[in-house]
Amino acid sequence: MSEAFDVIVIGGGPAGYPAAIRAGQNGLKVACIDEWRNRDGSHAFGGTCLNAGCIPSKALLESSELLHRAREEFATHGIRLAGIEFDVAQMHKRKSGIVKASTQGILALFKGAKVTPFAGHGRLLPGRKVELTASDGARTVYEARHVVLASGSTPMELRSAPFDGGSIVDSWGALDFETVPRRLGVIGAGVIGLELGSVWRRLGAEVVMLEALEAFLPMADQQVAKEALRAFRKQGLDIRLGAKVTGASVVAGAVSVQYSDAAGAQSLEVDRLVVAIGRRPFTAELLADGTGVTLDERGFITVDAECRTGAENVWAVGDCVRGPMLAHKGKEEGLMVADLIAGRYAEVNYKVIPSVIYTAPEIAWVGQTEEQVKASGRACKVGVFPFLASGRARAMESTLGFAKIVAAQDDDELLGVHIVGPMAGELIAEAVLAMEYSASTEDLQRTIHAHPTLSEALHEAALAADKRAIDFPNR
Ligand code: FAD
Ligand code: NAD
Repeated sequence: MSEAFDVIVIGGGPAGYPAAIRAGQNGLKVACIDEWRNRDGSHAFGGTCLNAGCIPSKALLESSELLHRAREEFATHGIRLAGIEFDVAQMHKRKSGIVKASTQGILALFKGAKVTPFAGHGRLLPGRKVELTASDGARTVYEARHVVLASGSTPMELRSAPFDGGSIVDSWGALDFETVPRRLGVIGAGVIGLELGSVWRRLGAEVVMLEALEAFLPMADQQVAKEALRAFRKQGLDIRLGAKVTGASVVAGAVSVQYSDAAGAQSLEVDRLVVAIGRRPFTAELLADGTGVTLDERGFITVDAECRTGAENVWAVGDCVRGPMLAHKGKEEGLMVADLIAGRYAEVNYKVIPSVIYTAPEIAWVGQTEEQVKASGRACKVGVFPFLASGRARAMESTLGFAKIVAAQDDDELLGVHIVGPMAGELIAEAVLAMEYSASTEDLQRTIHAHPTLSEALHEAALAADKRAIDFPNR
């Protein structure tokens, strides 16, 4: 038996590494074990989010959006560029640099918070012992007063279209295409499908998306979903709803996809196929027998509202537990657990977790949709303000979309805010803060918003909820 720690965190993604840092800030002796391997075999902290998710996808979204704007929009501003070219290799190089800076930054943060980093596989043994298997196979067992499991998630595979690492790939593969596919198929028109489909569409691929459900973005407010679907189709994303994939085969490097929809059996030929049908919790080789930690029927580690598992002083956070698979949700759970371990007050307000889809237009929301509020039976009022009526949006040449507020009829409480349009992911922060403090629409109405800013759209949507909007006719 070797060293003992106050806290050992297994998993160094956006749920695990902040838990380790906060535990260190709380004066505890902490280690963080992580096994992530990049394609070149190197180890890096940061998990899916920094290495193969949030960060590289946003880097490519930014590059491809700039290209799109240079081609489609600059002339409107009076900027003429002749012969615009792009270089996918340079886009990947920039992306890799951003990823590297972010992941290496974690090691510096660990140093500052006195967190001991271990590269290797962690396994929980009974009695809060943790076995570390290093890359050379050497095993060490550590004792811990508390263990935090933050093992994350992995892409779901479709039996009828299994990954082959080349032609049929997951989201990580789709972030690394060396050339632009002429024709790209995407199974799943969810968050990943839309973001990565947008990247390759803007770079010139014909993109066909096969979505099993008849509804588009069913988790979003349907007025927003409708506006977004119209915009995406206009951009050339061929989104086919109600499409059930029955098989896929690779012949001479091309992928033939069979699916059925309302019209019957269909087929599709593409150069590459991305399968983005959701992710599942990853707990392989994480738990030895007899730890007392249990999994639910979908494979998530069972936890209570404060992320306690069934085993004493063993906690679990992030994608491996229930709730939305979002980096910021995992981070807040990690911080909560590290503070609870230190005897401090902490909680996560699961009702106020923002969602953002980083397409153009961006989509962002927090709280309940209009459909959810109506289904709950609570009388509500709705205020909508289109970006078309925003001076700043017009100046930005970004007038698509709107901000929408759903509030309680009885006490005016904000119940949900939904934005489709420019910088929606940034604008939603105001709504999150407002809802965190149980604000009313009147609170937003009486808050001064700088002019001319996009944030005025939220102000006007709040006014519109009481038919008192100034810059757009009230309905
Ligand atoms: P992970 O990030 O998966 O990290 C878990 C870590 O634990 C990994 O490094 C893994 O190797 C390690 N590990 C697992 N088991 C062990 C073990 N036994 N021993 C040692 N180490 C282990 N979310 C957002 O909020 N915003 C976005 O914009 C966004 N974009 C995304 C884009 C893509 C393409 C993808 C795939 C995901 C995106 N997500 C986004 C989701 C986000 O990446 C996840 O919600 C987040 O990474 C979950 O964090 P986590 O720490 O729980 O797990
Ligand atoms: P998702 O759940 O967002 O979308 C999956 C889509 O695939 C759904 O629309 C689903 O109906 C569809 N689908 C499922 N099975 C199918 C089938 N057999 N055929 C056709 N369609 C099928 O999942 P995702 O896009 O894979 O993303 C995984 C997770 O990563 C999500 O939980 C998401 O929150 C997270 N993520 C977040 C962001 C962000 O916050 N911007 C970005 C990327 C990923």
